[in-house]
Amino acid sequence: MESIALKPDCFKKFENAGERFQLDMAELEGSGRKVAGVYCLFAPSEIVRAAGAVPVSLCGKKEKPIAEAERTLPPNLCPLIKSSYGFAVSDTCPYFVGSDFLIGETTCDGKKKMYEFMGRLKPLHLMHLPYTTSEQHALDFWYREILRLGKFVEEATGWTIDKDHLRFQIRIHNQIRKLARRIARFQAADRVLVSGSVMMTVMETKSCFVHPEAYVELLQEFISELEAMDAAGYSAFEPGAPRILLTGCPVGNGSDKVLRMIEQCGGAVVCLENCSGIKGLELLVDEDEEDPYLAIARRYLQTPCSCMTPNNGRLALLDDLIGEYRIDGVVDLTWQCCHTYNIEARLVGESVENRHGLPFLHVETDYSGSDVEQLRTRIEAFLEIAGWNASARTAAPQRPRNAV
Ligand code: SF4
Ligand code: SF4
Repeated sequence: MESIALKPDCFKKFENAGERFQLDMAELEGSGRKVAGVYCLFAPSEIVRAAGAVPVSLCGKKEKPIAEAERTLPPNLCPLIKSSYGFAVSDTCPYFVGSDFLIGETTCDGKKKMYEFMGRLKPLHLMHLPYTTSEQHALDFWYREILRLGKFVEEATGWTIDKDHLRFQIRIHNQIRKLARRIARFQAADRVLVSGSVMMTVMETKSCFVHPEAYVELLQEFISELEAMDAAGYSAFEPGAPRILLTGCPVGNGSDKVLRMIEQCGGAVVCLENCSGIKGLELLVDEDEEDPYLAIARRYLQTPCSCMTPNNGRLALLDDLIGEYRIDGVVDLTWQCCHTYNIEARLVGESVENRHGLPFLHVETDYSGSDVEQLRTRIEAFLEIAGWNASARTAAPQRPRNAV
């Protein structure tokens, strides 16, 4: 078996997704198509695209613009919120500059209050979220918010949303979710084909493409690459590397220090549960529902985010992923001052340790590099314990890939 951190050729297309997006948008110039800047998994791309606009995920994962944000926002705020606002107010996120309008959601207190300032920079539509997923009145409220979003994008784009086109968008977005889930599932096999960093880069592009059909083809190309790597016997990690699940706040290029640190210390991040990873991929919009807006409302309300209470969907998802990926240890990342993920970490820890008998590490940090040595010490100690599980697992018969 060859042990190699291979980057498939088509991986470059994922790394260059940002430049591709800008080139594709430049080609659309003069066509009247608008760009909608979005920040969160609760923003329904299907509705945006059905109104002829292109949704793009805006930058918020780097430390650099935070100082600019702190001229307006208090410093004791989550770095994701400050980075998002800093990029916007300093005109350093090209997607923000190119956005015609923004879609925000009242997910957490910091974000919804930050939007009051961001709304001074560009037209901003704020979707109001209920705080629970299971009550009928929550769905009724959210359904009306979905309709209100539809009206807003129609006005902002000058297009009328055709229900058949909306159904087409639902189908293609479901297809993208299924393909992305299939890609993520490759990492569940005994022989892990790519690092967690590579997988994160691939998954991040889910919200940065102009042409959905071309993106579907790119995902299919990547699946073919993974199949070829598998047939050639590649492995990104040594056989005994502990298999780690990373959950918690969103991470991405620039805010991936914990992910990188785990892998530098010898862990294999085989599963990213957070928003830039698997969260939401199992949730499909019902293609047969007569009212596509209602189908969209139902699906998006089930997003297992800590802003919901209770957030049982996250614990259930973690239960499934721990089994599917044969996890040896779970790391839960909380960005400093994120109260909802911070409090929920206790519930996740109880479940991981008591129900699954696995080691659990809760990390609370920010985007700076000031704590990397302290982090390294904690992660090394954690991986040593997770490594005992890995040794026991590798001593057992290996699972063939087609059994995943
Ligand atoms: S963690 Fe929640 S609030 Fe943050 S991006 Fe994901 S869904 Fe949105
Ligand atoms: S990480 Fe937490 S505090 Fe920050 S934007 Fe997301 S939910 Fe809000």
